[in-house]
Amino acid sequence: NKEILRKPDWLKIKLNTNENYLGLKNMMREKNLHTVCEEAKCPNIHECWAVRRTATFMILGEICTRACRFCAVTTGRPNELDWAEPERVADSVVLMNLKHVVITAVARDDLKDGGAEVFAETVRAIRRKNPFTSIEVLPSDMGGLHENIKILMDAKPDILNHNIETVRSLSDRVRAQAKYERSLELLRRAKELYPEIPTKSSLMVGLGETRDEILETMDDLRANNVDIMTIGQYLQPTKKHLKVLKYYTPEEFSELKDRALEKGFSHCESGPLVRSSYHADEQVNAAAKH
Ligand code: SF4
Ligand code: SF4
Repeated sequence: NKEILRKPDWLKIKLNTNENYLGLKNMMREKNLHTVCEEAKCPNIHECWAVRRTATFMILGEICTRACRFCAVTTGRPNELDWAEPERVADSVVLMNLKHVVITAVARDDLKDGGAEVFAETVRAIRRKNPFTSIEVLPSDMGGLHENIKILMDAKPDILNHNIETVRSLSDRVRAQAKYERSLELLRRAKELYPEIPTKSSLMVGLGETRDEILETMDDLRANNVDIMTIGQYLQPTKKHLKVLKYYTPEEFSELKDRALEKGFSHCESGPLVRSSYHADEQVNAAAKH
């Protein structure tokens, strides 16, 4: 399929950037902090930052040791570990008055603990300064080591989110070192350690998967006791990244959400612009009721 698919109208939206947003953007630069919201040019940024008061920080530097074929983050030799970063993130959560914060990180395959200690310290620092903010962590597989996921879970985040990203058959081609089974194992392990902490996972669609494979991924996640699922349209960040093979319609997303709820997820966000952290604030409560 050599043709480039035309982007459907429901994906053409304008970034809404007001003064408040510009102020926050400057603060991020001053504190040398990075948000996925800005770096991925996420179309939901106004709604998230200004209305819902939620944001996604990316810690452990901005250079990843992996090169997944859907992701625009720079690959290379990572930055030095920055032990002051947890406090700076916590201060920004105060300044942004966030109700819900998502902390994600680049993969740090150069570190034995995969960055788990700094990650856990970030959760604790946010908790100390913002006791009413719910905290969601979105780690890479941290080398697949059980002790690393334990370090992070011992910091007691409100949600553990780890993305399966794509269906089993496409995993090796789409993700770099990450493995489908290893991701399921991380999710299962997190639940075993702290059954009361909800777990969550996201799937991108449009990379060539079949509908049956999407349903199979839902079953695999449920078999590992994952509570929350999000499904969103894959968008090609640059020409060097994987092509979009299908744009799902809003109706198809809605049908997938129905299937997910039937399969027992307590909450599912499914839509063209849904991202791993989209409407994450609602999911804390939904999961608590599960
Ligand atoms: Fe940021 Fe996620 Fe909201 Fe996008 S959906 S603006 S990445 S918090
Ligand atoms: Fe991007 Fe994460 Fe893959 Fe790194 S591990 S390339 S940050 S998706």
